[in-house]
Amino acid sequence: MKKVLSFDIDQTLNIAKTPVPDEIADLLTACLDHFEICPISGQKFDQFLIQIVNRLVERGAKPSQLEHLHLFVAQGTQYYRYRANSDTYSEGDWEQVYNFPLKDEEVAKITNAIETAAKELGYWEEDELQPGDEIIENRLSQVTFSALGQKAGTEEKYAWDPDTKKREKIVARAKELAPEFDYEIGGTTSINAITPGMNKQFGMNKLLEQLNVEKSDILYFGDMTQPGGNDYPVVQMGIDTITVRSHEDTAFALRGILGVI
Ligand SMILES: [Mg+2]
Repeated sequence: MKKVLSFDIDQTLNIAKTPVPDEIADLLTACLDHFEICPISGQKFDQFLIQIVNRLVERGAKPSQLEHLHLFVAQGTQYYRYRANSDTYSEGDWEQVYNFPLKDEEVAKITNAIETAAKELGYWEEDELQPGDEIIENRLSQVTFSALGQKAGTEEKYAWDPDTKKREKIVARAKELAPEFDYEIGGTTSINAITPGMNKQFGMNKLLEQLNVEKSDILYFGDMTQPGGNDYPVVQMGIDTITVRSHEDTAFALRGILGVI
């Protein structure tokens, strides 16, 4: 039997950028009794709390169960685990095990390349931003372009680049301007820029090391498993992967897994 269930977040466990639905929260909580559960995504730690952890706690997950939840933040360039100090959940009981941040000059170079590319192509949607929002965000281990910002509505985001063509053009131009970085398409409007190798493959290798498991112990779920997608590095490693279209597919698969335990 697999020991680890690992998940992309956006579009795999939720509707992009929103907290996971009740059904997913309940299924993940049930899985914590049988597996190590490892979400891995380009997002920041606070988003992992909002989208996953707080939902599980709201739905009744116990601190002792959360010790089996491992957060591979910013594509696994940061890792957090839970050490229950009491029977009551506390955000302070999350411990950062490691962190590999980008250097300031790398952040500046990437930001400049993506902004220039998007502006040249007419995809710099500054006018669409809500107050206080930003298109390019420094997520410490990666720089993320979100065409319409973080706060835009879900429908609007889905409509912006459904066939990923706009982002492919931005990536191609950014790669000319700053070729020393890798650019991956994820979510609905996002591009993640990283130093080469700091993608989900890096995160999964860290997971293997930290949890002391083999590749064959892991089952991975993701929606962007095609070449160029941000889940593809996991497929390339030879880790068993289930490609999903949405959290509904993931829920279906998890019900099946829990049904045969
Ligand atoms: Mg995804």
